[in-house]
Amino acid sequence: MQLPQILVDAYDAYKGKIVKPSDNLLHKTTGLLQNGMNARAFGEYPSPEALGDARWTDELILSTWYMAETGKVPSDMNFKTGKSDGGFDRLDFQFLPEEEWLEHSEEIDTAIPLNRRADGKHDLGIDIPWYGGGMSYGSVSINVMMARAKNAKRWNSYMSTGEGGYPTELYEVKENVITQVATGYFGVEEETIQAAPIVEFKYAQGAKPGLGGHLLAAKAGEEVAKLRGSVPFVSLFSPFPFHSTYSVEDHSKHLDWIETVNPQALLSVKVSTPHDVDMVAVGSYYAGAHIIHLDGSYGGTGAAPEIAKKNIAMPIELAIPKVHKFLQKEGVRDKVTLIASGGVRTADDIAKAIALGADGCVLGTTDLVGMGCTRCANCEGGPSGRGCPWGLTTTDIELQEWVQQDWAEMRLDNLYKAMQWRLRDILRKLAMDDVSQLRGRTDLLRYIGKEGVE
Ligand code: SF4
Repeated sequence: MQLPQILVDAYDAYKGKIVKPSDNLLHKTTGLLQNGMNARAFGEYPSPEALGDARWTDELILSTWYMAETGKVPSDMNFKTGKSDGGFDRLDFQFLPEEEWLEHSEEIDTAIPLNRRADGKHDLGIDIPWYGGGMSYGSVSINVMMARAKNAKRWNSYMSTGEGGYPTELYEVKENVITQVATGYFGVEEETIQAAPIVEFKYAQGAKPGLGGHLLAAKAGEEVAKLRGSVPFVSLFSPFPFHSTYSVEDHSKHLDWIETVNPQALLSVKVSTPHDVDMVAVGSYYAGAHIIHLDGSYGGTGAAPEIAKKNIAMPIELAIPKVHKFLQKEGVRDKVTLIASGGVRTADDIAKAIALGADGCVLGTTDLVGMGCTRCANCEGGPSGRGCPWGLTTTDIELQEWVQQDWAEMRLDNLYKAMQWRLRDILRKLAMDDVSQLRGRTDLLRYIGKEGVE
């Protein structure tokens, strides 16, 4: 069989034609990339015309880079919203009169518990109401994974492996790594389930519900294939759905299986947002989930098809209150943690999601932007077939080196500092000293109509 040229090139690359960059090249390229990024974020050059889109505007990307460099929110750029004309971009807070605001203080509590069942399993919580969503090894490089995981450890938070197995490097920070079991069962092993404090079952992804996942052959190199139990440079498809699950009872059996392998692990169930998402959520609760993770449309990297992102799942802003209210009606809202993702970009989005009824959020793209993502949508391969030209969503032996772990970890730490500061800023303007007081307070939100008319 004649292999497509792109695969031949990729295979040759792995066999040594493209080798790890020399120290000189590494120094020069990373230096130029990082300086270029900072020059834009600090306003030394105008924003490039092609940068950004309606959800992630050029200004939002640059302000995120600024926060990732400085740990502070910028004074002259929008770091809160995009220009999508809907959802979080059309919601704002109704703050109290200034004389009622609290002082900005580290005493304002941003921590949330993850296990609300009091069932004797790990009593876990996170110091900030968000953690890192699943991006698999293969979809991103080991440098990106490690930077995210180490930053999660710094913040007493978590990062999910996504569905691509558990690279051995991650054992170093295993207390902060969620392992994912998804429909392809790639890399799912007893050992990794036993290592995980939280096991996440991914039933669907909001950016592409009903479509499953697809890792193109060019990105499934030797290391990726080994972890996934496959052979190099063969496309890997993660089907939709789990073909063993058609009822709450089947779902419950799934969770029982994990419980048998790791009795202490918390169970997270990630679902997309169909019209009956409230029923799905309550079913997950009765099946034994500690965390219900709702993944709305608009998330996903540039590998998710635009037509799917914009047209299938329910926006997360609608799904959160629907599920929150239904769980309240069922009398189980305080026994489960509701986590939201799918287009959550900023501290303001997180606060709005909590006001709509979530306990916290999951971030994926925000982490990538913090590490230099330009939203160019070449994650799946791009013109070269080698993946992200900035070294983020690629396992190309050369490109992945453009993102150095220490640098990326520092960027994420700074970004999280700025985001926590902003979250506290919102809370104090609502006279709240604990983020849990914000949950479900839709009365504090106002809709800003188009053209800013309320
Ligand atoms: S290819 Fe890289 S820079 Fe472009 S959207 Fe994907 S992660 Fe971001």
